Amino acid sequence: MRLFDAHCHFDFPEFDGRREREVARARAVGVQGLVMPGVRRADWGRLASLAAPETGLWYCLGIHPWFVGEHDSEDLDALAAALASKPSGCLAIGECGLDALQGSMEEQVPWFVAQVQLAARLDFPLVIHSVKAHDQVAALLRSERWQGRALIHGFSGSYQQACHFIELGCYIGVGGVITHDRAKKTRDVISRLPADVLVLETDAPDMSPAGVPKGQNSPVYIPGIFAQLAGLRGEDEGWLAEALMANVGRLYGLTPDLLAPS
Ligand SMILES: [Zn+2]
Repeated sequence: MRLFDAHCHFDFPEFDGRREREVARARAVGVQGLVMPGVRRADWGRLASLAAPETGLWYCLGIHPWFVGEHDSEDLDALAAALASKPSGCLAIGECGLDALQGSMEEQVPWFVAQVQLAARLDFPLVIHSVKAHDQVAALLRSERWQGRALIHGFSGSYQQACHFIELGCYIGVGGVITHDRAKKTRDVISRLPADVLVLETDAPDMSPAGVPKGQNSPVYIPGIFAQLAGLRGEDEGWLAEALMANVGRLYGLTPDLLAPS
């Protein structure tokens, strides 16, 4: 069975010194690739140097809502220039978005709008961080007349909010949240969504699944999240795994064979 981690902060220092081992462990359990989102300009160089498409390591460039304060307009110009060169291994813009629980949404909005516009102009998919801000994110995509592909990563929200995102062409990121019994609402929503919009992700090292200590999440836990998902939805595991690979391929604009070389 082939699986993929569509959103994993594999460039973070938490993985220093053990990346090769983690990649080998992940491959051993069927996880054949991952996408590392960019959160701040200071990390972009590290992402590009870690990327290795031939072994399934991909990345994105972007400015995360938590870090907008350390950037200025020159950084947006640098982002545009970097993306316009279509760097090898770079698949999307993000993670960008809005977070009502950290920082000021007022300050975050212009950075998100700029990245949505850049993605539309350069034809890149978007990786979106949306925390307690789903309605604002959806309204903003609508007012920008977003026509592209996007991932709402680590989705946790209502069925109706998920449907609004799907109408806007978004994929729904499914992570460790669904392994926790307390996440009743999210588990119920995810079990009812169409299979062709779901994408597996860990958000490692954060968002630990049940039984994994905080901050120690890793792409090796994708199969556990996947098994929960198949169980919740009552779908055949072989069928669902192939469907999820096709979804992440469509999201990032690559065939599953290129995205997750075996
Ligand atoms: Zn993330």
